[in-house]
Amino acid sequence: MSENIFHAPDKFRENAWVKSMDEYKAMYKKSVEDPEGFWGEIAETFYWEKKWDKVRDFNYSMSKGPVFLEWFKNAKTNITYNCLDRHLDTRGDQAALIWEGNSPDEDMVITYRDLHEKVCRFANALKKSGVGKGDRVAIYLPMIPELAIAMMACARIGAVHSIVFGGFSSEALANRIMDSLCKVLVTSDGVMRGAKSIPLKGNADKALKMCADLGHSVGTCFVVNRTGSDVNMVENRDVWWHEAAQAQSAECPVEWMDAEDPLFILYTSGSTGTPKGVQHNVGGYMVYTGTTFKYVFDYHEGDVYWCTADIGWVTGHSYIVYGPLSQGATSIIFEGIPSYPDPGRFWATVDKWKVNQFYTAPTAIRSLMAQGEKWVEQYDLSSLRVLGSVGEPINPEAWQWYHKYVGKEQCPIVDTWWQTETGGIMISALPYAIDQKPGSATLPFFSVQPVVLSEEGKELTGACEGILAIKEPWPGQMRTVYNSHDRFEMTYFQMFDGYYFAGDGCRRDEDGYIWITGRVDDVINVSGHRMSTAEVESALGSHVNVAEAAVIGFPHDIKGQGIYAFVTLNMGVSPSDELMADLKKHVRTEIGPIATPDIINFASDLPKTRSGKIMRRILRKIATDEYDQLGDLSTLSDPDVVGTLINSHKVLM
Ligand code: ATP
Ligand code: MG
Repeated sequence: MSENIFHAPDKFRENAWVKSMDEYKAMYKKSVEDPEGFWGEIAETFYWEKKWDKVRDFNYSMSKGPVFLEWFKNAKTNITYNCLDRHLDTRGDQAALIWEGNSPDEDMVITYRDLHEKVCRFANALKKSGVGKGDRVAIYLPMIPELAIAMMACARIGAVHSIVFGGFSSEALANRIMDSLCKVLVTSDGVMRGAKSIPLKGNADKALKMCADLGHSVGTCFVVNRTGSDVNMVENRDVWWHEAAQAQSAECPVEWMDAEDPLFILYTSGSTGTPKGVQHNVGGYMVYTGTTFKYVFDYHEGDVYWCTADIGWVTGHSYIVYGPLSQGATSIIFEGIPSYPDPGRFWATVDKWKVNQFYTAPTAIRSLMAQGEKWVEQYDLSSLRVLGSVGEPINPEAWQWYHKYVGKEQCPIVDTWWQTETGGIMISALPYAIDQKPGSATLPFFSVQPVVLSEEGKELTGACEGILAIKEPWPGQMRTVYNSHDRFEMTYFQMFDGYYFAGDGCRRDEDGYIWITGRVDDVINVSGHRMSTAEVESALGSHVNVAEAAVIGFPHDIKGQGIYAFVTLNMGVSPSDELMADLKKHVRTEIGPIATPDIINFASDLPKTRSGKIMRRILRKIATDEYDQLGDLSTLSDPDVVGTLINSHKVLM
């Protein structure tokens, strides 16, 4: 992998929250030596109706008793008071949310005052439909302002939201409603996607029918009018959002919540298996998302910040809604897709709103990179100051492209490693303090203590490679798997007693930088040499003709495991035997003969979760001809891809 080091230009350093490596080191040291003092001081910058008795309490070791963790014990607050009410005097007329619609000529600016009013009205509507503290509310909406409003309306009255990504099927929605027995569903008539409007209410109806057949009836279904399409409104159950909200008062007092009351449930994306209902609680999550937002994006008063994720994923929860709003930021909600009306949409939008911080996923960068630079070069991107990446390891090739064409070599890139479970960013550069190496998430955030473990659970020191685990809790950590504390303990704490097991592998280099090597299950062992899929994928991705690659290990008589690569090509490039030979040669030169792929399958597309992550577990099943054991496909974004890959695999064998 590339060992280039990027040091941010001095231009914005003067004003940055953390200006140098020395400052970072000093703050980090304090945060680890005295986490209670460190987080207690930061928590003072939030509003609490009642202060805590103790900052932190936990048991991480199953051998000593049940695993638990608590932050800001016995404190009382409300996250929406921190995200809305406390800004009204100073920022009432400032944009809280900017909504950029699917079509470039649809947009809306929502000030803190407007947002407060809208949240209050809908909170009252929820109350009227019988929702109270502790009740679960399912939200199944596209990226429209009502999505953020609905979640905050729940939080305001102490209801627990469970957001289900709007692209999921009725089965996936029904499963999630049943898992926590949601009392109410919030949905819309339809979704705008590129040039089309897609119905959504029909899916919701089907899901509610499935739930009813299983004995659970959802009392009220609120429906947002987004597309104006025909929908079937069920009497005594379905209510139009605008009618319900308009009929309510614009004031709704907050419910003072215990810091350890649940805030939301969110299911993981399902890359490795059945999604888990991750539960986050009010106090720690609020403090952690706000603080990481401020430092990692070096957010300052007046900045316009844009995260392109869907609010249906944790990235959107933490870094479109709660983190930015608790800091009084202006946050963009983007309804559209990167390729509509053309592949310049991201950059046109950055130019339009003069975005200062831009946060996206490697999959989006790779797909835009395959379309060529001309789409970026048409726009003025000089407002950009910090670029971010999340979701998967970013291959150095994509990093360099992002840095050069989007950031014009002026913007630091924060490659942020974290998980639904961690609530917020765990390992990332701080833009002006920590120099970046393309492909490395760099160093831990304050008080996060990553360790690299051997398979036997021994802490490795110095430069090493192994399993990533975290010693000691941080405030944003999940508290339990909803309704299944056993599963929480088994999944994250059983493997290595006394550590949070993240499920990812990593390498630590001589500077202490962390390089995520992919899921622990994704390590390949070729003739005794351990290799990460990410490494081979990066090498393939650095070939001029390759758009994206996914690599897995498959059983090999001689080598133990062989390397199987699924490769998609750039626009206008066709597969050929010459290209195949050239790709093998390329990997040999980049990494070494041991990493040479045994099989290359030229694919038109790769199986991905709806959040854009490659599902290697499916590729592994295809490679071993176990087509009947593909497992849960419900979180796949385009199930047809699987059939196409099976066919091209059969041709190769
Ligand atoms: P499931 O847990 O159901 O398999 P998932 O792990 O994909 O789904 P998320 O919580 O959305 O669900 O994703 C977290 C994972 O994404 C991390 O464990 C890691 O594998 C990957 N990831 C996220 N950010 C980065 C990053 N910056 N670099 C490398 N990997 C990342
Ligand atoms: Mg996971």
